[in-house]
Amino acid sequence: MSNFLESVNTNFDKAAKHTGLAKGLLEQIKVCNSVYQMRFPVKVGNSYQVIEAYRAQHSHHRLPTKGGIRFSQKVNQDEVVALATLMTYKCALVDVPFGGAKGGVKISTREFNDEQLEKITRRYTMELIRKNFIGPGTDVPAPDYGTGPREMAWILDTYLTMKGGEIDAAGCVTGKPVNQYGIRGRTEATGRGVYYALKEILSYEKDMKEIGLTAGMEGKTIAVQGLGNVGYYAASICQNEGGATIVSVAEYEGAIYSEKGIDIEKLMKYRKSKGSIMGFPGTKKMKSRKDVLTVKCDILIPAALENQITKGNARSVKAKIVAEAANGPVTAEAGEILNKKGIMVVPDMYINAGGVTVSYFEWLKNLSHMRFGRMQKRFDQHRYQKLVDLVEQKTGKVIAAKEKKLLTRGADEIDLVRSGLEETMITAYGEIRDTYKRKKSISDMRTAAFVVAINKISSDYLSLGIWP
Ligand code: NAD
Repeated sequence: MSNFLESVNTNFDKAAKHTGLAKGLLEQIKVCNSVYQMRFPVKVGNSYQVIEAYRAQHSHHRLPTKGGIRFSQKVNQDEVVALATLMTYKCALVDVPFGGAKGGVKISTREFNDEQLEKITRRYTMELIRKNFIGPGTDVPAPDYGTGPREMAWILDTYLTMKGGEIDAAGCVTGKPVNQYGIRGRTEATGRGVYYALKEILSYEKDMKEIGLTAGMEGKTIAVQGLGNVGYYAASICQNEGGATIVSVAEYEGAIYSEKGIDIEKLMKYRKSKGSIMGFPGTKKMKSRKDVLTVKCDILIPAALENQITKGNARSVKAKIVAEAANGPVTAEAGEILNKKGIMVVPDMYINAGGVTVSYFEWLKNLSHMRFGRMQKRFDQHRYQKLVDLVEQKTGKVIAAKEKKLLTRGADEIDLVRSGLEETMITAYGEIRDTYKRKKSISDMRTAAFVVAINKISSDYLSLGIWP
């Protein structure tokens, strides 16, 4: 078993002890229900390559199952199962009514051109269709490491080619481009969720004092590993909306540091033109890209891959908060070390749940065949306008045009998506925090998050009357 899967299961076992649930029920919640392992040939240049790929459905207690598709050279069955497992707990934690799933294709995206990647994605989708491992009511993929809206559009197009007559076919995959049945705010969702979660956590003055921080995000120093979809949006939104200072960034090619702060938008432009973050003006080169994990900062955001903070480097972590934007970046052993050091580890299943939350909104939009806000935007606008007119009439004062515009605006899809996401992250944190504070025997937030998730999943099984 891989370190990652072992870590997930170790964390589960640790939390299970606090639930008082029957052994058989806990076993059913823990195990992975189905894994489809596939090999298929794809023509690359003049020869064929055999591609290894997977789709794991961890739990069917709620349907459809849901989880991203990862393109990475490191993909293996245990990793996919570990990620599918985390998805089950994540969905339960944030009240997204899905079972957990995950897909993986063992390729390095750097070794294929766009045409070849499209061929691989479409063939992988065909395999899923043939085995009934995809569909709006069965299993709904989304982006993950190495994939994005483009790949989701290819998946949708392949599905529509085969199942075009299905009225809800567009809900077979989420994370699609907005003009391809997607939803506004999905691309930024995981990173924005990280921001909302951190903002909420940092708002508890007493909690922050306990770990040596002041309340609020303004002026906090942040280090980010991985400037992909999750890392980029998390860093950019924490910087631009939260007023945080990004002091260190690591990418594939290395790590950089600047005490004064790194402008993320400028850094992204620089990387696009130079092909690297190294040499970005005003920054120092760090010895190794892993040094980002042990740099002095308030918040560390690992947003690349799993198993980054291990028992080998955990003692050197200097951040006060480790926000697991990636899945599984802190191993179970490293988590124990960080806890003992008094570092708050915000678990992946909570802090990166923004992606699946907005995927849920996208799926709902696909099933309803209508953009959020279409029915009520103008109605709200007219009502607010009447209220503003009344206030002006009664007070005899004129409200400035700019303020009036703000006060009377009806919500667009993006406003509703962000509002729903913020609400989800705040509510879920409240549940985790309550459990953490209430049960003295629970010593870390990950265990508390697992307890909340396990209890929610168990209530589905218990309501079936299968377990006493
Ligand atoms: P991505 O492919 O968009 O970005 C990952 C980035 O990390 C890439 O730019 C890559 O070059 C960089 N990277 C890889 N190894 C690195 C290393 N050792 N040091 C520094 N940088 C490195 O992937 P993503 O979608 O942002 O996913 C990142 C993590 O977040 C994964 O663990 C994924 O499972 C998790 N996640 C993603 C989503 C989502 O909506 N995309 C949702 C929840 C969780």
